Amino acid sequence: MNAPLKSLDLSFSNRPDTSGPIPLAGLTRQQLRDVLIEHAGVEEKKAKMRAEQLWRWIYHFGVQSFDEMTNVSKDLRKVLSETFTLARAEIVERLVSVDGTRKYLIRFAPGVEAETVFIPDVGKSGALCVSSQVGCTLNCTFCHTGTQKLVRNLTAAEIAQQVMIARDDLGEWPTSNEDRQITNIVFMGMGEPLYNLDHVSDAIDVISDGDGIAIGRRRITVSTSGVVPKMTELGERTKAMLAISLHATNDPLRDELVPLNKKYNIETLMDAIRAYPDLSNAKRVTFEYVMLKGVNDSPAEARALVKLLKGVPSKINLIPFNPWPNSPYECSDWETIETFADIVNRAGYASPIRTPRGRDIFAACGQLKSESVKMRASEKRKLERGEASSG
Ligand code: SAH
Ligand code: SF4
Repeated sequence: MNAPLKSLDLSFSNRPDTSGPIPLAGLTRQQLRDVLIEHAGVEEKKAKMRAEQLWRWIYHFGVQSFDEMTNVSKDLRKVLSETFTLARAEIVERLVSVDGTRKYLIRFAPGVEAETVFIPDVGKSGALCVSSQVGCTLNCTFCHTGTQKLVRNLTAAEIAQQVMIARDDLGEWPTSNEDRQITNIVFMGMGEPLYNLDHVSDAIDVISDGDGIAIGRRRITVSTSGVVPKMTELGERTKAMLAISLHATNDPLRDELVPLNKKYNIETLMDAIRAYPDLSNAKRVTFEYVMLKGVNDSPAEARALVKLLKGVPSKINLIPFNPWPNSPYECSDWETIETFADIVNRAGYASPIRTPRGRDIFAACGQLKSESVKMRASEKRKLERGEASSG
């Protein structure tokens, strides 16, 4: 093969093509420095300082115009605005629930759409649920994303932009604004984060940086279905909190619900969890357990769960199953969930049931996109029939 011409690596960019201004929102410090040198003619020795200046405007103040960058010379601002953009990806759907949950469907490129959900908690805190991939290669049988093919991994910039977009919408700039509600980030949207670890890790660097968005690493949780070989690396690179989608306490059932279990069984998974860096009572693993009627919800299974987690600093999150069209399961009855929760509670795990949020806007992580697509289709049909939109 001939020596390749030096071509620009735009793999971090979210541009559907290479025309038009380069988006800066979501880039890492290194990427910012690189694009300033390559595209704005900034000298190498000054690039670091310039990147620092821009970093603060982009991630602390959340500005969307270069004119606001008052400590940057007019001439450079002109070059920047001709070369780059501070715009975010497009929100194609935004729904606000009566309980304050907000759901966004974001289009990063044609056919590349992912969902982000803001889940308010008590008081001023709340979690933003972000996606790491569009679709998923795994096929957990209770998960709607699992029925969708993987479209592609999201880039670090696209993941970080989900946080920026939600902050724009909630009016949370600058970071020093004390009324901020997004205090935690959970990677529990679409996709398997550990199959996109490089970008997830870079995105966490951006989101947690103290001079910018400043959401601490202890407030960032990455959920995995159990990609054992990547778990230690996740802990070492990101220092994030770990969540495990367990859902079953024996291999035959977990093989069925989370097919990845055939590759990394429960014993292997538990070993990897015990080896997770810095695990302690202050840094517990969250075990997610979806409540499926007649499948995994018996008192015996609750006891098996307690037994399995013995000695592992853990929290348990019981998730009422959120049904989707033609899903092969039903959510357990409330009484069954309470009985299960009681057993788990008595073993020392506090308030483990995750209350369903934003049901009116289909806001359960992992199934928003499909519902939105369906809703848009039904809205369209209504319009075609000449009926008024229900909004
Ligand atoms: N792929 C990762 C992260 C995304 S899924 C993982 O599997 O952990 C985030 C969480 O939502 C997982 O615990 C998943 O099991 C859960 N989930 C998926 N579909 C669900 C549904 N229909 N009802 C309730 N929880 C669901
Ligand atoms: Fe993928 Fe997680 Fe859904 Fe399983 S539960 S299909 S790993 S998104």
